[in-house]
Amino acid sequence: MPNNKLRIGNVDITSLSDGVLAFDLCNFFPDIPKEGWVGQEHHLSESHGVSFNLACFLIQSDGHTIAVDTGLGPKQDATTPWGELLDDFKAHGVRPEDVDMVVMTHAHRDHVGWNLLSQDGKYTPTFPNAEYLVSSTDWEACHNPDLVADRFPNAPECVWPLEELGVLELMEDGHQITSEISTLATPGHTPGHMSLLISSQGEGGLVLGDVLHNTAQIENTDWVSRADIDPAQTRITRKNLMERLEREGIPVAAVHLAKPGFGRIVRENGRRFWQAIEL
Ligand SMILES: [Zn+2]
Repeated sequence: MPNNKLRIGNVDITSLSDGVLAFDLCNFFPDIPKEGWVGQEHHLSESHGVSFNLACFLIQSDGHTIAVDTGLGPKQDATTPWGELLDDFKAHGVRPEDVDMVVMTHAHRDHVGWNLLSQDGKYTPTFPNAEYLVSSTDWEACHNPDLVADRFPNAPECVWPLEELGVLELMEDGHQITSEISTLATPGHTPGHMSLLISSQGEGGLVLGDVLHNTAQIENTDWVSRADIDPAQTRITRKNLMERLEREGIPVAAVHLAKPGFGRIVRENGRRFWQAIEL
């Protein structure tokens, strides 16, 4: 399956998925009036809503196998449109045991769902040989009683137990994950949100996380979604990062954009947009 693999220097990124969700616009972008979408329809799904992939980027670097974000987790029933991640691992010949690091761009529910398996009230790591990395700021935020219920509803089952299991590692801005991958603090969506910078053999790349959720936000960097915890900081982070990515032209891996989620931020005829990388 070569069409979901991107190579940056010596780093391989495979785009796996836990499923695809669909949202109504008024639900996901409640502050953008209907008129705002006029002329922007090409960013929307056929049903005039937002389509939302749940990517897990599997990265090979320095002999490590790193799973970046773990989707929403096991299916609740047969109609659940997520819960496919372990099947996708299997389809690509990768075993959970092969993963030695799980990196969370942030602690929201759709990025931590497969971290742990629970049985009879006992938790075990889904990836038994992995250490799990999350930013210290999001680790704190997902324990904040004012935020847990609304913003980090599955953290008590999917994030908190990592500490007791002895597999938790906290990250700061600039944390070197491997010699080729480091964190870049991109706060706003969550307080400790991290993107990942890749640098290998003179080539660069970026794993975006949730700096944006729809390609319309590449040009309209001030459009915030209901999932953004701090709208003002989100706007600043998105504007700065889009300008940088446009300038640098490096490949980007975007977790919620259409599969496989690889593209570049480019400008043509005065407009900034997402140019998917044809693989
Ligand atoms: Zn997300």
